[in-house]
Amino acid sequence: MHLTDYHIHSTCSDDGHNTMLEMALASREKGVRQLCFTDHCDIDFFMTGEPNQDCFSNRCEMLKMYRETVAAAPDDIKIFLGLELGEGNHNPEQAKRIADSEELDFILGSIHNLKGKPDFYNTKYRGDEYSQSLVENYMDELIELSEIDCFDVMAHIGYPSRYIRIGGARVEISTRTYGEKLKAVLKNLIERGKGIEINCSGFRTPPGGGPLPTSDVLRLYKELGGEIITVGSDAHRVDNAGIGLAEGFDILRDLGYKYVTVFEKRKPKFVKI
Ligand SMILES: [Zn+2]
Ligand SMILES: [Zn+2]
Repeated sequence: MHLTDYHIHSTCSDDGHNTMLEMALASREKGVRQLCFTDHCDIDFFMTGEPNQDCFSNRCEMLKMYRETVAAAPDDIKIFLGLELGEGNHNPEQAKRIADSEELDFILGSIHNLKGKPDFYNTKYRGDEYSQSLVENYMDELIELSEIDCFDVMAHIGYPSRYIRIGGARVEISTRTYGEKLKAVLKNLIERGKGIEINCSGFRTPPGGGPLPTSDVLRLYKELGGEIITVGSDAHRVDNAGIGLAEGFDILRDLGYKYVTVFEKRKPKFVKI
């Protein structure tokens, strides 16, 4: 069975370190045979949470690099062009305009920061209570995003938990702690024909705490009738290309999933696992 990677970055992301071709070749070495670039397009500036009206200004550069990569890469790896569209709920009109870009095969919908706040990665965590309040707001924003038609798959549900833990506070985003809100998000996605991803970046070393979302959320999604699920490394450099994907596939198989999803021209296709 071949691996698929529907969450991977290149130098078209501010935090990417390698070109699309370098990332594609490194992924191929790890057994990936279908991948989709999902470079960042965040509606807000990540350090401040201020709106960025011009967040897709690298569209032409991205398309050019993508075309050159497809032309140069070996034929045994299929390469698609997507986007990781951040904070679509902060400006739904802008997000929908970007999502309508005809060249895109796939769009991840992410929340990296709350309205007017910096990325969770750049946040100072002042104790458990403050962290809890941020997570409450994060869950409410996920519900908001799940109702907006500007993406295909919701990315890394539970994203803040990793950075809050690194920041020294305790918080858990699971069906035990946020069951009702998670159920609302997942139901909204299923009703609207959208999916979730299993984000495998937590399998890198040093260990970052397993998959996002956690296995219990992946199980709940399946129980609610969810079928659309993509697998992503979220790699930003060649060293991380393909890392964690096999573990992600194993978790899905253990939970009883029979297929993973890939997208072409925004249409889901199911690949047996
Ligand atoms: Zn992300
Ligand atoms: Zn990403």
